[in-house]
Amino acid sequence: MQPLQCTECGARVLVQKNSWEHTSVQWDDTARATCREIGGTGEGRPGAPREGCAALTVSIARAAEAGVVPVRDPDPVPTPVIVP
Ligand SMILES: [Zn+2]
Repeated sequence: MQPLQCTECGARVLVQKNSWEHTSVQWDDTARATCREIGGTGEGRPGAPREGCAALTVSIARAAEAGVVPVRDPDPVPTPVIVP
Protein backbone atom coordinates (compact mmCIF):
# COMPACT_ATOMS: atom_id res chain seq x y z
CA MET A 1 0.00 0.00 0.00
CA GLN A 2 1.14 3.52 -0.58
CA PRO A 3 -0.01 6.91 0.65
CA LEU A 4 -2.23 9.00 -1.58
CA GLN A 5 -3.83 12.33 -0.87
CA CYS A 6 -7.34 13.13 -2.02
CA THR A 7 -7.17 16.14 -4.32
CA GLU A 8 -10.54 17.40 -3.06
CA CYS A 9 -10.55 16.99 0.68
CA GLY A 10 -6.86 16.41 1.34
CA ALA A 11 -7.35 13.20 3.28
CA ARG A 12 -4.29 10.98 3.21
CA VAL A 13 -5.04 7.30 2.86
CA LEU A 14 -3.14 4.16 1.96
CA VAL A 15 -3.99 2.79 -1.43
CA GLN A 16 -3.30 -0.44 -3.20
CA LYS A 17 -4.58 -1.10 -6.67
CA ASN A 18 -4.85 -4.81 -7.26
CA SER A 19 -6.37 -4.37 -10.68
CA TRP A 20 -8.21 -1.65 -12.57
CA GLU A 21 -11.44 -2.84 -11.00
CA HIS A 22 -10.24 -3.61 -7.51
CA THR A 23 -8.82 -1.00 -5.17
CA SER A 24 -7.98 -1.38 -1.50
CA VAL A 25 -8.13 1.79 0.56
CA GLN A 26 -7.03 2.00 4.17
CA TRP A 27 -8.33 4.88 6.24
CA ASP A 28 -6.84 6.01 9.49
CA ASP A 29 -8.56 8.27 12.01
CA THR A 30 -6.88 11.41 10.68
CA ALA A 31 -7.95 10.68 7.14
CA ARG A 32 -11.53 10.00 8.23
CA ALA A 33 -11.66 13.26 10.12
CA THR A 34 -10.20 15.15 7.18
CA CYS A 35 -12.45 13.76 4.48
CA ARG A 36 -15.63 15.66 3.82
CA GLU A 37 -17.60 12.59 2.82
CA ILE A 38 -16.27 10.04 5.30
CA GLY A 39 -15.74 12.40 8.20
CA GLY A 40 -18.25 13.66 10.67
CA THR A 41 -18.66 10.56 12.79
CA GLY A 42 -21.29 12.45 14.77
CA GLU A 43 -23.83 11.49 12.13
CA GLY A 44 -25.02 8.00 11.50
CA ARG A 45 -23.96 4.94 13.35
CA PRO A 46 -20.41 5.02 14.70
CA GLY A 47 -18.21 2.56 12.92
CA ALA A 48 -20.74 2.04 10.16
CA PRO A 49 -18.79 1.54 6.99
CA ARG A 50 -19.27 4.24 4.41
CA GLU A 51 -19.21 3.70 0.70
CA GLY A 52 -16.15 5.85 0.41
CA CYS A 53 -15.22 9.22 -0.91
CA ALA A 54 -16.17 9.93 -4.52
CA ALA A 55 -13.45 12.55 -4.86
CA LEU A 56 -10.87 10.12 -3.55
CA THR A 57 -12.04 7.45 -5.96
CA VAL A 58 -11.41 9.89 -8.79
CA SER A 59 -8.03 10.80 -7.32
CA ILE A 60 -7.04 7.13 -7.20
CA ALA A 61 -8.17 6.56 -10.77
CA ARG A 62 -6.14 9.54 -11.97
CA ALA A 63 -3.11 8.42 -10.01
CA ALA A 64 -3.37 4.93 -11.46
CA GLU A 65 -3.65 6.28 -14.99
CA ALA A 66 -0.66 8.53 -14.39
CA GLY A 67 1.32 5.58 -13.05
CA VAL A 68 1.63 7.12 -9.60
CA VAL A 69 -0.20 4.18 -8.09
CA PRO A 70 0.96 0.97 -9.73
CA VAL A 71 -1.71 -1.48 -10.80
CA ARG A 72 -0.58 -4.93 -9.71
CA ASP A 73 -2.51 -6.75 -12.39
CA PRO A 74 -2.98 -4.27 -15.21
CA ASP A 75 -4.42 -6.78 -17.65
CA PRO A 76 -8.12 -6.34 -18.24
CA VAL A 77 -10.44 -9.12 -17.20
CA PRO A 78 -10.11 -11.64 -20.02
CA THR A 79 -13.06 -12.15 -22.28
CA PRO A 80 -14.05 -15.78 -22.46
CA VAL A 81 -13.17 -17.31 -25.78
CA ILE A 82 -15.98 -19.34 -27.26
CA VAL A 83 -14.63 -22.31 -29.17
CA PRO A 84 -17.04 -23.51 -31.82
ZN1 LIG B 1 -12.62 12.71 0.58
